Amino acid sequence: MESTLKRPDVASDRPAKWQPRVVIIGSGVAGIACAIKLKAQGIDDIVILEKAGKLGGTWRDNRYPGLACDVPAHLYVYSFRPNPNWKRRFAEGPDIWRYYSGVAAEYGVTEHIAYNEEVLSAEWTGRHWLIRTSGPSKMLEADILISAVGRLQHPKYPDIAGLDDFGGQVFHSARWPDGVGVKGKRVGIIGTGSTATQLTTALAPVVDRLTIFQRTPQWVLTIPNPGYSWVRRALYRAFPALHERYLAKLRQESRAAVELITGKDRSFIRSMCEAGLASVEDPVLRDKLRPDYEPGCKRIVMSPNFYQAVQGDNVELVTDAIERAEGQGVRTADGRLHELDILVLATGFKTDAFMRPMSLSGANGTKLDDIWDSGFLNYKSVALPEMPNFFMINGPYSPGGNASVVGIIETHVNFIIQCIDRIRERHVALMPDRRTTEKLLAAVREAAKNTIWAQGGCSSWYLDKEGVPLINPLSIDQLRADMREPAFDDFVEVEIDGAGREAVMRQ
Ligand code: NAP
Repeated sequence: MESTLKRPDVASDRPAKWQPRVVIIGSGVAGIACAIKLKAQGIDDIVILEKAGKLGGTWRDNRYPGLACDVPAHLYVYSFRPNPNWKRRFAEGPDIWRYYSGVAAEYGVTEHIAYNEEVLSAEWTGRHWLIRTSGPSKMLEADILISAVGRLQHPKYPDIAGLDDFGGQVFHSARWPDGVGVKGKRVGIIGTGSTATQLTTALAPVVDRLTIFQRTPQWVLTIPNPGYSWVRRALYRAFPALHERYLAKLRQESRAAVELITGKDRSFIRSMCEAGLASVEDPVLRDKLRPDYEPGCKRIVMSPNFYQAVQGDNVELVTDAIERAEGQGVRTADGRLHELDILVLATGFKTDAFMRPMSLSGANGTKLDDIWDSGFLNYKSVALPEMPNFFMINGPYSPGGNASVVGIIETHVNFIIQCIDRIRERHVALMPDRRTTEKLLAAVREAAKNTIWAQGGCSSWYLDKEGVPLINPLSIDQLRADMREPAFDDFVEVEIDGAGREAVMRQ
C-alpha cells in the first residue's frame, strides 16, 4: 500500500467545541470506517468494543473454502483508500480481510480496539451512555454510542432433527473450524445461497463426494473472474488517474447491473441467467436447478463456474426434503440415507437481530425491544427515537440487494459525523423525533412493497414477518443525495451536562 494517506472525505470542518467520548461497537468494515472518519474530524477519544479477538467482522468470521466477494474488488473498498493491487476482479476472502486490517493499521484505528469485549447492555443515564461488556472493561461511559455490528453476524442454524446424533463433523459455514480436512471426504452442504455456491465450486474438485441439499433453487449469473496482470497493477500504482478511470468504468457497470437486476425490465438478466443454466447438459438436473420465481427476488448468486461444478461426477444435487440427520449422514423424505463425513450448514444468518441480543435502554428507560415491538422503527437506518446520541451504521431498511455495502456504510458514517458535529457545537444530545421517524419509515415501507424483493414470488432474508422487504429501494446515488445533510428539524435536542470530561474506563 502507498505511504501517503488520503484524508477521508468528511462533510464538515467546523472547529471542535469539546471532545466527546465515542464508543463504537464492532470492528468490521463499518466500525473501521467510522473510527477513521471520526479521527479525521479531530475526535480521538474512541474505543471500539470488539467481541472477538481479532478485527474484520464478516471477513474474520467467514473462513470457508472458496470464500470470495462477488462485488468487484476495486469497488469493495473505502472511497478514500483505493487499492490498485487486487489480483482478480472478485477478490478472495483472505485478501479482503488483509485490505481492511491494513487500512485499520494505516489510519491508526487498531490501537482503539478493545478485544474480547462483547457489549451486553447500554443505558442512557440522562448524561451519557453506560455500557456493560462481557470483557475486562466491564463498564464504560460514552457521550456517543455507535453500533457497527453488521447484519450477517449471527449464524442461523436449521431446525433439523438429529443433528446432534450425526457421527461426523457438523458446523455452520461461518464457523468453519481450524484444520478441517475435506480432501477425499464425503461432504454435504445444506443450502444453495451465495455461500453454498462458493463452497460447491471450491469443494467439488477435492472431496470424494459432494452432496448439495437444495430446498429452493437460486438464479445464478455465470460471470467470469479474470485476473489482473502484474503490469496492469503496476500501471494502476504508478498512474492513479488511470486507476480512477477504471474505477469510474466499474462504477458505471455496477449501476447498470443493479438497474438490470432490480429495475422494471428484467428480461436481460433473466436471459443471462438462462444462458448459464443452459450449460447444464442433463435436462433433469437443469430442471431441478431452475427457480420458479423472478431473478433478483433473492440476491442473485454470481459465480464463474457453479454450473460446471454441479455437473461433476462426484457431485449430487438432492432436492428431496431433509427428514433428519442420523449417525451416518442425512436421511431425506424419500427414505434414502446420504452417508457423510462432514455436514456444512450454509443456511444463512439471523438477519433481523441487528445489535441484539445486546439490550438498549434510552430516554426515560425506553427499551430497544419496545421501539422494535411491532417492526423495525428507525430513522434513515442510522438513528432511533428515544435513543439520544445513539447511532447505527447499516441498520434496518438500509439499501441492499446486489449493491456494494461499503458505499452505504460511508454514506451513513458521513451523516452520523454531521450529527456529531451538531452535538459538539450545541452541547446537546440528539435523537430523531418519533412522529417524523414513523412518517418517513412508512414511506420507505410503501416503496419497498413495490420491489422485486416483495413481488418476485420468493421468500428470502430480505423480508420481514409481513413479507415487506427490510430494504430501502434507494440506489446508492439516491441514498447519497438523501443523506447528504441531516435535516435537524427531524431531530429532538436533549439538554445534557457533564460533557467534555476525560474518558472514564472503570475496571
Ligand atoms: P442465504 O442466502 O440466506 O441462503 C441460505 C440457504 O440455506 C438457502 O438456500 C436456504 O434455502 C437454505 N436453508 C436455510 N435453512 C434451511 C433448512 N432448514 N433446510 C434446508 N435448506 C435451508 O445465506 P448465505 O448463502 O450464507 O448468504 C447470506 C448473505 O451473505 C447473502 O445474501 C449475501 O448478502 C452475503 N454473502 C455475500 C457473498 C458475496 O460474494 N458477496 C458471499 C456469501 C454471502 P431457502 O432459499 O429455501 O430458504
